[in-house]
Amino acid sequence: MKKVALAFDLGGTELRAALIDDAGCLLAFSSLSTDAAGGPAAVIRQIELLAETVLTETPDLSPIGIGIGAPGPLDPDAGVVIAAPTLVGWHEVPLADILHSHFQLPVRLENDANAAALGEWRYGAGRGAGSMVFVTVSTGIGGGVIADGRILHGRRGLAAEIGHMTITSEGERCFCGAVGCFEAVASGTALGRRATARTRPSDGSVLRSLAADADVTGRHVVEAARKGDADALELLDAEARWLGIGFTNLLHLYSPDVLVMGGGISHGFDLLHDQMVATVRERAMPAYRNVPIVAAQLGRHAGLIGAASLIFDGYGKADFEPMSPKSTDKPGTSVSAGKKEASNG
Ligand SMILES: [Zn+2]
Repeated sequence: MKKVALAFDLGGTELRAALIDDAGCLLAFSSLSTDAAGGPAAVIRQIELLAETVLTETPDLSPIGIGIGAPGPLDPDAGVVIAAPTLVGWHEVPLADILHSHFQLPVRLENDANAAALGEWRYGAGRGAGSMVFVTVSTGIGGGVIADGRILHGRRGLAAEIGHMTITSEGERCFCGAVGCFEAVASGTALGRRATARTRPSDGSVLRSLAADADVTGRHVVEAARKGDADALELLDAEARWLGIGFTNLLHLYSPDVLVMGGGISHGFDLLHDQMVATVRERAMPAYRNVPIVAAQLGRHAGLIGAASLIFDGYGKADFEPMSPKSTDKPGTSVSAGKKEASNG
């Protein structure tokens, strides 16, 4: 019988739930606008409601555990959301314990970017890689690192904050307060800002027309470039150079077998690819130059699929140990006990 897990992707704007099998397929899906202002209690009620919805759709299937991706910083081992910046009142919330009490299933919590990295690694563009770097380029830049067959967590699960590595000493200030963060110069937001600065409302440019004369976004730049717009192509060329510089750092640091790029801006991956690769070839030391840079494959469901993968056999092998509250679980009675044995084999 196939194994299924209940997965959640807790975002600042959207809360998504799915029942996912161990082939990475979504069997049921439902979502709600996150009640981000309502505090943890309101959002946890939404999680319970969504669980009911997807489980009702699939009455013959019983999940063996719950995987959840949530905004960092969070502590994956303790199952605690430390301080989600996009969710009001989420400070030191023991989300895994709360969900375990409600559902009586093992619960694993993971940073949302790491969850997406796990999804792409197990079921998407990084399948089969021993080491992989996943970079998501959209409003911000985030990512996750698979190193030697397991997700890299670091102290308190805070490793691989890719968007805030410094890659220049100039430019706009990042929301984190620093200048020159990868995210501040290479995110979709930064790309849109450069496009907006380059044009004016009603100037007749393709970029402004696509933006209906409002501020231009990164997506508009990709769209305009597809129409052959010279301004947009130049902006994407500069964007690809910034991405190439950041990727070069990541190749030097983690030496992955493959670098996977996702996020909204990866809709322009084909337009960015050659200049990104050229920049890497120009800047990386010879041994790092030929690492493939590929587009993510799972789209917006990468985080959900990765969250589910936390629960299935084979994930990270050595470090697979589904979270279950230490004090209340009796050995041998929960799914996690069996998993621990399996993981030692
Ligand atoms: Zn920053």
